[in-house]
Amino acid sequence: MPAKAEIVICGAGVAGVAAAYHLVVRRGVRNVVLVDERPPLSLTSAAGTEAYRNWWPDLSMFRFVDRSIGLMEELARESGNVFRMNRRGYVFLTGNRDRIPELKKEAEEVSNLGGGALRVHRDGGTYVPSRPEGLAWPEGLEPDLAGADLLLDGDAIKVLFPFLADDTAAMLHVRRCGWLDLPSLGRWMLDRIASRGGELLQDRISKVDARNNRVRGVTLASGSRIETGNLVLAAGPLVPAAGRMLGLDIPVFMELHGKIIAEDRACVLPPDAPMMIWTDPIELIWSEEEKRQLSAGADTRYLTEPFPAGLHIRPRYRDGKQTFLGIWTYDVTPREAVFPPEFDPAYPVIVLRGLARMIPGMRVYFEATDALAVDGGYYCKAPDNLPLIGPLPVDGAYIVGALSGYGAMGSQAAGELIAAHVTGAVLPDYAKAFLFSRFDGISDTEMREMRDATRGQL
Ligand SMILES: Cc1cc2nc3c(=O)[nH]c(=O)nc-3n(C[C@H](O)[C@H](O)[C@H](O)COP(=O)(O)OP(=O)(O)OC[C@H]3O[C@@H](n4cnc5c(N)ncnc54)[C@H](O)[C@@H]3O)c2cc1C
Repeated sequence: MPAKAEIVICGAGVAGVAAAYHLVVRRGVRNVVLVDERPPLSLTSAAGTEAYRNWWPDLSMFRFVDRSIGLMEELARESGNVFRMNRRGYVFLTGNRDRIPELKKEAEEVSNLGGGALRVHRDGGTYVPSRPEGLAWPEGLEPDLAGADLLLDGDAIKVLFPFLADDTAAMLHVRRCGWLDLPSLGRWMLDRIASRGGELLQDRISKVDARNNRVRGVTLASGSRIETGNLVLAAGPLVPAAGRMLGLDIPVFMELHGKIIAEDRACVLPPDAPMMIWTDPIELIWSEEEKRQLSAGADTRYLTEPFPAGLHIRPRYRDGKQTFLGIWTYDVTPREAVFPPEFDPAYPVIVLRGLARMIPGMRVYFEATDALAVDGGYYCKAPDNLPLIGPLPVDGAYIVGALSGYGAMGSQAAGELIAAHVTGAVLPDYAKAFLFSRFDGISDTEMREMRDATRGQL
């Protein structure tokens, strides 16, 4: 255990590991110590969907995630794509023709911010699928398309994605999107960090010595102390407690986000499907009798009422199993982070019965709902749902956090940006929007009013 470090990073989730990677490997900083009480990438970073999109209605977020995707592409090329980054895209769907103008208007806005051209297709003739002919398997970074395709022909959609509901009226296929295998990316970065002398320590930072408003060292739960002048908080949803060790109130709140993981034995969702997102509110699929019984009970009536838009699904092949991940955050009430997180017992039923609206074949799994695995974690969010990346008001202290639902896709740009702050390098144009100091002088009440669960979120 080193007695001294140039930089200590508190937390080895994807944010902390990416910060260490950019400091040690890309900027050549020596004597960086990454401290985590858990195995690396085992808390929130193990619970996500691992997807990415360069489709944002906010310019700083667009520039940030776009940069991050570019960096991930570099790593994919450098590593022989060990983390299986793909380019299947996100497919936003509606079953309501009246919503098409809205879908188109929103797409035009993001396209104009830099998201790339919006191509409108009246039929399937000029649309390029995510697995063009000749491409064996949609892994890797092809087709190399940007922008989005708006396909307005329900019949053509049915030919492309026969598993979708018959009334699917339009789809917006955003192209510079996909997903990756985050644990593999994490392992690859950790190997590189170790090969350049960076250290990973399994311990908890229990105290920070910040006499005279300057970081001087950290004490670990094991009783050891590391002298350091620089501390980066990358503590994910535990960042409020980490901030308190510096006497700081970090302005974040937590939302619980879950997902179901189902082994797709009946092959309902083809393994080469893109991410599919239903953009209309959904009424869960019940038989008439079930509906009657549920609506009769005060505690169960909500199951027969419309749930909000945003249900999404993607296939996942991992550990020799073909599964699908179904994600739906219908309750965005801020809450305390408790571990392990507790999910609504009805969550698997709700997600599966919602999925059956988008993909009728999901009905085959209705009987097996009890066997479905649920996991997830907390989106740690600043009131404006932008990340917190940069210096804290204690000399030598920094934060890379509040990564909300974009911490996997944003991790490379976040790591690069925090490394630039710590080493005093030139900062990119989006750096200012993410500074901790943007909340100076803003009251707690104002920050609470600023919260908007839908801002920049699927
Ligand atoms: C259901 C769900 C779906 C998601 N989908 C996506 C997606 O598709 N795309 C995407 O980009 N993002 C997604 N996310 C978000 C993404 O997973 C997170 O933003 C990201 O993992 C946060 O990483 P982190 O490193 O900040 O936090 P974490 O992964 O939580 O890591 C924080 C680490 O800090 C450690 N720590 C805390 N305090 C201390 C201390 N005092 N001493 C030592 N160690 C400490 C913890 O042990 C932990 O390991 C999703 C999240 C969820 C929950």
